This record gives sequence, C-alpha cells and structure tokens, in this order.
Amino acid sequence: MKIAVAKGDGIGPEIMDTVLHIFEAAGVPLTYEFVEMGKWVFDKGFSTGMTPEAQQTIERLGILFKGPMETPKGKGVKSINVTARKVWNTYANKRVFQSLHGVDTVFSKAGIPIRLTILRENIEDTYGGIEHMLTGDVAVSRRMITRPGCMQFLRYCFDMASKQGARRITCAHKANIMKLTDGLFLDCFNEIATEYPHLKADDIIVDDLAMKLVIKPHEFDVICLTNLQGDIVSDLCAGLVGGLGFAPSANIGDAISIFEAVHGTAPDIAGKHIANPTSLLLSGLMMLRHLGIWEQAATIENALLHTLEQGVHTGDFGDKTTAPVMTPEFAAAIISNFGKLPATNAVATQPNHLVDHHPAKPKEYQMLVSENPAPETINGVDLFVESAEQPGVVADKCLRHPGARFTLTTLSNRGTQVWPTGSLFTNCANVYTARFEKKEGPVTVQEVLDLCGRVSADFKICSYELLLQYGNTRGYSLAQGQ
Ligand code: NAD
Repeated sequence: MKIAVAKGDGIGPEIMDTVLHIFEAAGVPLTYEFVEMGKWVFDKGFSTGMTPEAQQTIERLGILFKGPMETPKGKGVKSINVTARKVWNTYANKRVFQSLHGVDTVFSKAGIPIRLTILRENIEDTYGGIEHMLTGDVAVSRRMITRPGCMQFLRYCFDMASKQGARRITCAHKANIMKLTDGLFLDCFNEIATEYPHLKADDIIVDDLAMKLVIKPHEFDVICLTNLQGDIVSDLCAGLVGGLGFAPSANIGDAISIFEAVHGTAPDIAGKHIANPTSLLLSGLMMLRHLGIWEQAATIENALLHTLEQGVHTGDFGDKTTAPVMTPEFAAAIISNFGKLPATNAVATQPNHLVDHHPAKPKEYQMLVSENPAPETINGVDLFVESAEQPGVVADKCLRHPGARFTLTTLSNRGTQVWPTGSLFTNCANVYTARFEKKEGPVTVQEVLDLCGRVSADFKICSYELLLQYGNTRGYSLAQGQ
C-alpha cells in the first residue's frame, strides 16, 4: 500500500522521519511517495504551497500523511493546511484527546481519566475566508453554513460514534444567537439523530460546553462543532490532556484523507532534535487504523503508552526532575518496548484488514444540493449603505426611493435597530442596514435591483442581501430590538 507523505517545515522533517522509522521497525506494510508541500514550495513561487506533481500524487493515492507547515506571513497567500483540507473536501476533522500515563495534568492528578473525541466541520464557516471591507471602517466575513455540508459532516459523526460505541454524542453550537447558521447545524444534527435512536444525542451552547469541559470533562464523549468553534474547543481539550503535543488529528473525506499533528512547526526548537513526536505518531496510528492496519497500530500504541509510563519524556512534558531525552532516543525507547503492554488502557488488537483507499477520479465537480426544498419567495432586501449621518437623516433619504413595491421598515446599525425607534445610547458605525420589505405580494430580483439603482443616488451601496422565505419559514434574522 502506498501513501503520500509531506514532511513539512520546522520540526516537521525531524518528527516525520522519527515516526516513519518507528513504522518501519514495527513492520507497517506501507510505502511512501514523498511530495513537495510547505513554506519552501511557496518560496519557490508556487502560490498554493504545493507543486502540481504533489497535487496529482495525493489525488492518485488518496492518503496524505503530513508534518506541520508554515504559511509565509504577509505575502497574501492562504494557509496550505487549510487549503489542503478544503480543496480535497476533508469535511470532518477528528481529534482524539485522552489522558496518557506519564503526562501529568490537573485531571490525571485528581484520578479523573479523560477520553474525548472532538469532531469539527472542516470546510465551511468563517474558514471560507470570504471577507470584504465595506468602508474604511467596516470589515465583514461571510459565514456560510450549508445544509448539505452539515449533513455530510454530521452523518460521518453519527456513523463514527455508533461504530465506536459512544456513550453520548453532543452538538455544541451558538444557535441562541446565530439562529439561522448554527440553527441549521443544530437542525441537521437533530434530524440525523433520529436515525440513530441507540445513541444518546443532546446539544449544548458552546460557552456552557467550554465551562463544563474544564469542570467535568469526563461527562462528555463525542462532541460535534462547526469549524471555528471546533478549532477553539479542540485546543481547549488539548490543554486538558497535557498540550498540543499529545493530540492527533485526522481530516476525513470521502475520497482523500489527511493525517497530521495538531501543533505547528515549532520554529523555536527546529533542527535541535528535541521535538516531541507523539502527536504525529498518534495521528499516524489513526491513519493506520483508517487503512485497516490494526496489528502494527496496537503494537506501536501499547509501546508508546508503556514508554510514557516509564517516565521517558522529551523536554516539553513529563517529570522535570528527570532528564529529557532527544527525539531519536524517544523513538528508540518506543521501539525497544514493542510487545510490552501499558499497566492501564492497553489497546486490543485484531488482524489487519487492508482497506483500498485509492479514490476514483471524479469527472466533474460534485454538487451538494438538497432535494425538494420548500418554495422560495422574496420578501424584500437589506441594503448595506455607507453613511456617517444620523439615523433620521439616513431614513429620510431612504424614504425617497421605496417606490410602489417596497416600504422601508427598519434601519439598523451593527445589527441593532436605530430607526424608527432605538436608543440614543447605541453607537453607530458608518454602515447602515436599510430593510426594504414588500408592500404586497412577493417581489422579483429585478425589482430589488431597480430599488438599488434608485437608492444609490443617495448612498454608496456596499452590499445587499435578499430577504427570502422558504415555505412559511423566514430566511433572515430580525435586528436587535426590532
Ligand atoms: P507551534 O505549535 O508551532 O508552537 C507553539 C509552542 O509549542 C512552541 O513553543 C513550540 O516549541 C512548542 N511545540 C509545538 N510542537 C511541539 C512538539 N512537537 N514538541 C515540543 N514542543 C512543541 O505554534 P506557532 O508557533 O503558533 O506556529 C508556528 C508555525 O506553525 C506557524 O507558521 C503556523 O502557521 C504553523 N502551524 C501549522 C499547523 C499545521 O501544519 N497544521 C498548525 C498550527 C500552526
């Protein structure tokens, strides 16, 4: 079986060589095709951070095992790590956080074991990076959450939780505030939950989750989150089990999957051979199991756990009264412990059952579109107009233009209504949202564009959003105070 390997930048090559050395010593039945990705590829002039040959190889082999990579600062290029996850539609980011013997934490000292699986949606949300300045003062980010994207991700979550016999699967969200975006994510979660009646499924507001994870992490098992909230919560969980050095990460897609350490390139210690390879090794073990290589994965994991129990440690963790070892010595200790079991949490093994992971090359882009959507009507439009004038003045100008089809119902600023009623204590920035709603009967896009044309006589229109309705459900939020 062949997979693509990118060693990465900074400590990447050191820890990748270490992990592949451990794999070789354990007789892992894999061969590797090394591909060119990372900072040095950006520096060679490839704006995506990878060569076309690297892209072809990864798309042919279907699995990428990668070290951490640096995104050059201030060159206007996007992160290669995020690009890789998005381009190849690795829609589920799975990170497993568990207490390890030899890695002291507040919880291990209190005798509370932790095993949490964080599943983070990996494509959508603010990670689309769709950002614009509306005026010199006002920046917006478009946070796209799609029904098919949520369904694809959440199906994987429930399937995985079911296969691993999860005690509980929890959806964390902020649907109390972001009723449409996080609300959609939560709706999809609840919809799929009905197909898995044997799983205990519940939901929690993400800030409440953050507090409860710190106080009683053992109450949770599998947690599903949108992209940005998942990013933050997974680092919190890394802290619970001893830091980023102990967190593996898998980016799972239907065709291509990427396995990588959670931490970055650690430029401060690069080249010193003191880096901790555990995160990349644990990610590699997730990859071996994904490929059906169970035997060697168990041998290596048990040896790693035994080694940690022995107190062998690199400089970033462990008992400060005993000397740390260098990265190669850490690997040698693991290899010398092959065949030994840890005192607790030994991993059971099963015979290898290799999985064909080579993707069929798609002929065209796959469209993710829901079937039978509710009928759509246009109720009006929100026009985002630039003005530093008082709300009453802005309203008077807007009221010149509604014509026969629209009525100006509200002006809001940063999401708070300031006209027809409001509070003088509200502070305003120089973008107003002028909400024009239909007088009667649905309006057309052309009528909206005609309105834009009229209003632009008085304002710079920075952006607009249609007010859509699906069946009886309103597809837009109300302003605070409306
Ligand atoms: P970092 O994770 O590289 O380093 C943070 C701290 O943790 C440093 O003190 C470092 O020495 C230490 N550390 C990290 N990994 C370690 C290990 N395996 N062993 C021992 N100590 C370790 O985070 P950063 O400094 O914010 O980022 C450095 C670069 O890495 C940036 O260019 C960033 O964009 C990139 N990055 C890449 C990825 C990825 O490839 N997936 C993830 C995060 C950051």
